[in-house]
Amino acid sequence: MKKAASVKKAASAKKAAPAKKAAPARKAPAAKKVTVAPQKATARVKGAAPAKAVVHPPGDESRTALVRRARRINRELAEVYPYAHPELDFDNPFQLVVATVLSAQTTDLRVNQTTPALFAKYPTPEDLAAANPEEVEEILRPTGFFRAKTKSVIGLSKALVEEFGGEVPGRLEDLVKLPGVGRKTAFVVLGNAFGRPGITVDTHFQRLVRRWQWTAETDPDKIEAAVGALFPKSDWTDLSHHVIWHGRRICHARKPACGACPIAPLCPAYGEGETDPEKAKKLLKYEKGGFPGQRLRPPQAYLDAGGKPAPPLGAG
Ligand code: SF4
Repeated sequence: MKKAASVKKAASAKKAAPAKKAAPARKAPAAKKVTVAPQKATARVKGAAPAKAVVHPPGDESRTALVRRARRINRELAEVYPYAHPELDFDNPFQLVVATVLSAQTTDLRVNQTTPALFAKYPTPEDLAAANPEEVEEILRPTGFFRAKTKSVIGLSKALVEEFGGEVPGRLEDLVKLPGVGRKTAFVVLGNAFGRPGITVDTHFQRLVRRWQWTAETDPDKIEAAVGALFPKSDWTDLSHHVIWHGRRICHARKPACGACPIAPLCPAYGEGETDPEKAKKLLKYEKGGFPGQRLRPPQAYLDAGGKPAPPLGAG
């Protein structure tokens, strides 16, 4: 419901937004960058405003303009991914914290294919704290680094039992004390299991905010602070989903699909990837490319939007 409202708001905001006054002085270098992609790219967003003008090159972008552009990108992405959600399957905070720890150095898909067996055998922190490590290692093998991950999840389960009465704490300062849990994991848990705003600075988030020149910082904590300052706190969790979803589906590390990107008119890095719309379309992933997503049990909104569940482990 909140999303529907915010999408509506975004749509009307878009209408109200004045057509950019064309950054006249900059158009020579920039025009080449913008003329082609945006028209086609925006065509796929239902009801999206047609591409307007190129964004100011960030070198001379004022703070106010940056805030406005950043928020506009987030609003556009909210329209592209109205069903964005954490891509780890979980039923409770315990499952989410364990799944997030397991997601280091592997895909959410692989974690989602692995956790059903883990949680079937060890449904509570007490069960996992008392587990035989070798049996857990066997289950976690497909996620890579399975010995270290086994140690972490058993260790964090013990800490939950001994220090927090078997419950996942809902405070950042407690969460980061758990073995294997850093700020990134803590924010995922706070944002998605406790409804507390948090910015998740993963590899996609770092890459995209740099491409958009929201910040020049490279340290994740500094990125978190710099980007957090551009948005109201209440936007942080959804913003993280939007950015990460865009990084996974369209703005890839090696070949961003610029020619199929709905925010091309707002992106200073347009042209870093494939600009031909047809070729760019072939680079789209997950539901944007008509493929299964990462969750075996995605939310209904995702299925309603044509998304497909991921296959279980070994199903191909
Ligand atoms: S780099 Fe390309 S794909 Fe990424 S946001 Fe910019 S225009 Fe879109």
